[in-house]
Amino acid sequence: MSHREHVEESLDAIRRSKLNAFITVDYEGARRQAEEADAGELDGRLAGIPIAIKDAISTKGLRTTCASKMLEDYVPPYDAFVVKKLREEGAVIIGKTNMDEFSMGTSTETSFFGPCKNPWDLERVPGGSSGGSAAAVAAQEADLALGSDTGGSIRCPASFCGVVGLKPTYGRVSRSGLVSYGNSMEQIGPIARTVEACAALFEVIAGYDPWDSTSRDVPVPHYVARLTDEIAGLEVGVPQDFFGEGVDPVVENATWEAIAVLESLGVHAKETSMPNLKYALSAYYVQAMSEASSNLARYSGIIYGHRVQKDHDWHTTFSENRASGFGKEVKRRLLLGTYALSAGYYDKYYLKARKARALISRDFQRVFKQFDALIAPTMPYVAFKIGEKIEDPLSLYKVDINTVPINLANVPSLSVPCGRKGRLPIGMQIIGDQFNEQLLFNIAFQFEQNTNNTCAL
Ligand code: GLN
Repeated sequence: MSHREHVEESLDAIRRSKLNAFITVDYEGARRQAEEADAGELDGRLAGIPIAIKDAISTKGLRTTCASKMLEDYVPPYDAFVVKKLREEGAVIIGKTNMDEFSMGTSTETSFFGPCKNPWDLERVPGGSSGGSAAAVAAQEADLALGSDTGGSIRCPASFCGVVGLKPTYGRVSRSGLVSYGNSMEQIGPIARTVEACAALFEVIAGYDPWDSTSRDVPVPHYVARLTDEIAGLEVGVPQDFFGEGVDPVVENATWEAIAVLESLGVHAKETSMPNLKYALSAYYVQAMSEASSNLARYSGIIYGHRVQKDHDWHTTFSENRASGFGKEVKRRLLLGTYALSAGYYDKYYLKARKARALISRDFQRVFKQFDALIAPTMPYVAFKIGEKIEDPLSLYKVDINTVPINLANVPSLSVPCGRKGRLPIGMQIIGDQFNEQLLFNIAFQFEQNTNNTCAL
């Protein structure tokens, strides 16, 4: 099959889709890139492969909205570092995927462009905030996708949609061109239907970028070439703190069954505990909202963003632009974040959250002296119904209980399908020490080869 035919299959799937996984589809650009690949003009490791990009990642000449009215018409003048890398390797960028507005959410319901749906059950959420990316990959509307993960936004939808998703080590992938939400915690990462494809995409996007001062100059290994490395003899920790109240017993069982499979492959598993994880959810939300309130200050309609077409004094214009450009959840977070950073409250909230973060990081450092990796359920339960939690923000924040600790500690975590509840996929995360993504891929690869959990529709 030619690249053009293959890309046309993706475009057809998108056209027929009921998922609302895409905000913008670049039909023309995708066909042109596919033809270039067929003509041999695009070579590289991803030549001709259709890839979907979360709409928080800048694409030159292609609208990048962050699923917000605020950026409804924004067309970036440059490509994000990761997008540049993809183009260099010949990937075909087919479109920009639906997400929670400015990446704030766990369900892809807060999008200005309407909710995205779970491919396994159209009444359920795909997870979030990179819901469109995971749904598109699961439903074969794209072969690969990029998401971003500040507190779970790659792993949650990967788990709910039955695909593989990696939150890399902080600093492993450049954030240049990613619209910032919680900049001290977020990373762009790969989403794919198999571990090998996920590793292949990661190999392309990882690496040092002088345009991101938090990017780290650490050599990028050939992850794919080493996927079959021996895993027998590895020590894996199972922290009981990830199996707390609210974890569905079906999810818990699926995780333990997966651990038994790994044991049959020679991995040693042992229970452990990380007592400071109980602070993770509150520490995460205070920091994420504080960072958001600062990062989103630029959207005032003056240089960036939606503008109400009326002339007023500066204050009124600023307020009107922001009041009509941002959705409800974004406003809630900006208000709370501004409050947490304001004089008199800074020590009480923000600083305290930073201290809790340090304790949580120390928990991870301690367990990684003893274990090569950790295993835990990615999400406490399977995908929930659209509308079920959206009116109760706290209940939605609690969904992130198992994903946010990883971002606070800047370590990598790979979510892989490990079972189902009825039709709905269950995911487990394999967590490693900083820059140890290779080991996560190896464990996941062996697990995948020895089980039958590939969930692609
Ligand atoms: N659900 C979390 C939040 O709303 C994580 C989002 C993300 O990783 N971008 O903050």
